[in-house]
Amino acid sequence: MNVLLLGPQGSGKGTQAKRIEADYGIPHIATGDMLRAVMEQGTELGKRVRPIVESGQLVPDELMIDLIRDRLGEVDAEGGFVLDGFPRTLPQADALDGMLAEIVRTLSIVFEFQLADDVCRERMHRRAELEGRTDDTPEVIERRLSLYHEQTEPLVTHYRVAGNLVGIHADRAVDEVFAEVQEALDQVAARTA
Ligand code: AMP
Repeated sequence: MNVLLLGPQGSGKGTQAKRIEADYGIPHIATGDMLRAVMEQGTELGKRVRPIVESGQLVPDELMIDLIRDRLGEVDAEGGFVLDGFPRTLPQADALDGMLAEIVRTLSIVFEFQLADDVCRERMHRRAELEGRTDDTPEVIERRLSLYHEQTEPLVTHYRVAGNLVGIHADRAVDEVFAEVQEALDQVAARTA
């Protein structure tokens, strides 16, 4: 199963992705985590992306597309994946469509986690206290949220047209959201079985 999660920062994509990974045995591919890992390792790529990530801007499309192409080519992604944080722009979405077409795969389902901006802000501020992420400062949080609306939200239409979009009301307890996610995934699994 090839699963894609869309939704603003703080909508619980990462948490749900981890549950999907555990229950369905498909790897959680989170571009934010991948970027933070190379930043931690201090590689050339890490040094290049650090100022971008820390200021809440978007890393250039070409770089992200190369990163994802390599990651989807790894053996653990052969049986499917749950993608979190990519694509974030229309060029990235087009590139993903192209990559999947090459390997004769399609997205089985796209979830859109829906959450009001104020709740996103509240959750990100709380996470800033807990995790101390350098891009969870108030100013950077605002930039990331507005970039979501400008650059990423239009992808909802892109996937609605493709016909496999499921909206999820994300302002609920983790278990409640996951129950709905599971129901949708089980339907997809039944259809493709
Ligand atoms: P996240 O953990 O998904 O919120 O990502 C943290 C940061 O990594 C973002 O604010 C961006 O700077 C960068 N990033 C992650 N994924 C992408 C992407 N697909 N395109 C561009 N930048 C990204």
